[in-house]
Amino acid sequence: MEGDGNHIKDIKERIRNFLKDIPEYIPGKSVEEVRRKYGLKRVIKLASNENPYGCSPNVIESISDFKNFHIYPPSDAVELREEISRYIGFEEDMIALGAGMDGIMETIFRMCVRDGDKVAIPIPTYTYYETLARMHRAVTVFLKRDEEFKTAEFERDAVLTILNSPNNPTGNVESFDFVREIVESVRGLVFIDEAYAEFTQKRLTMLAEMENVIIGRTFSKAFGLANLRIGYAIMHPDLRREFMKVSTPFPLSNIAIIAAISALKDREYMENTVRMILAERRRLEKKLKSFFRVYPSEANFIYVESEHYSSTELSNLLERRGIIVRDCSNFRGCSKHSLRISVGKREENDMLIEALEEIHGIYGGV
Ligand code: PMP
Repeated sequence: MEGDGNHIKDIKERIRNFLKDIPEYIPGKSVEEVRRKYGLKRVIKLASNENPYGCSPNVIESISDFKNFHIYPPSDAVELREEISRYIGFEEDMIALGAGMDGIMETIFRMCVRDGDKVAIPIPTYTYYETLARMHRAVTVFLKRDEEFKTAEFERDAVLTILNSPNNPTGNVESFDFVREIVESVRGLVFIDEAYAEFTQKRLTMLAEMENVIIGRTFSKAFGLANLRIGYAIMHPDLRREFMKVSTPFPLSNIAIIAAISALKDREYMENTVRMILAERRRLEKKLKSFFRVYPSEANFIYVESEHYSSTELSNLLERRGIIVRDCSNFRGCSKHSLRISVGKREENDMLIEALEEIHGIYGGV
């Protein structure tokens, strides 16, 4: 090692400069963190839009005797792509895999975004899109939404337009006709993030037939496999060939592949949990209306605005009572009074309502 440590300082400085425009990803607090901070016995997390019922028991069974940890997984995962093909009705030569939807998006950016290219993002939305755009030194064009949070404009010259339907954090879907107009009008690719597709009937998946569209899906939400990082994308076979050139060689572990196959083979389990979540969402939406402005949702979370409290104040008051929700004040384009609440199990949602009643009783208005 060289003596004076300046080379370390230099590289730190270089990295800091290089990444200075990239916002930090602020994940929701963990259950453990909140439990310790407030000395609580029970903490629930309604902040990451996970499936509170978990994955199918068949999935756990299917990976229980896996032993080949020393062998690389297959890079093409044909069997999984066949299973996905049966599930979504597009041929397997249109399906690519990635380490979660996040991994899919990283590959898409590598594929088409270079310094100074325009990337169009309607806001508010999932914050990682902007991080990726900045990381790739793109010019980010923030698109307006209407009062229902539907995308209301587009940028013709964008090399990549990113739509999220249902949208995180606002819960609404895009209008099919307007999205088709965008797809037909822009010069670049349109990526449609359908992470929450299983929670709605209003899907845009069939637009994958268009040559400049990529549809993204994940096993993290309805299938209850967030921990295994399994995402996939549907696109034209020519585009898929290019995608594969810049994908990491082994994006999914064998465990992930086996789990995803068995999750798809037990669709009934997933569909049942989705039904339970949707029934709970309807119940929770009604209850939340006595505290908040509640926006209609097509997903497994609800976007609300408080009249009296800032998102940060209210999420702290809830945390102290053992409930973690998502403070949306750091989402670009969200108000400072907005929260995103994932739909939990019935007793978890009841715990939230009780806490809100208590806060209301002590401090008045929520
Ligand atoms: N897109 C959206 C809209 C999301 O909300 C999330 C999860 N926070 C992701 C992508 C990332 O999903 P995955 O776990 O598949 O990487």
